Amino acid sequence: MLGVVKSKMVQPSLWQQLQACWPALKGSLALVHKPCIRPNCRACASGQKHPNYLLSFTQKGRRRSLYVPLAMVPIIKRALANGRRVEDLLYKTGPALLKEYRSQNPAQTGPTAPLKRSQARKRSSKS
Ligand SMILES: [Zn+2]
Repeated sequence: MLGVVKSKMVQPSLWQQLQACWPALKGSLALVHKPCIRPNCRACASGQKHPNYLLSFTQKGRRRSLYVPLAMVPIIKRALANGRRVEDLLYKTGPALLKEYRSQNPAQTGPTAPLKRSQARKRSSKS
């Protein structure tokens, strides 16, 4: 039976780092140039059109996009960077938890117990 993992060192530290990463989001921000509906628009007639930020993301397996107001662009950029940081921290959590468990349960780790059992079976079948 597995022992209870008492995480006192690693988990609070990773949790504190995760909390500092809010707001966080996953997706991509793109600058696009779209035509408007105004007749005789000089920007549209010149082909320059109008700059707009689009946030693209996946929702229930479908690709979606939303317009981002200019004032929100720095916040969205920071949230995207935080999203990458959160993902990085989640990848670090598995190894950190296992390292912590092994430091507290040195005798119970590794494949030694099942190996001994199979070796014992081989020996008993030979005799
Ligand atoms: Zn226009």
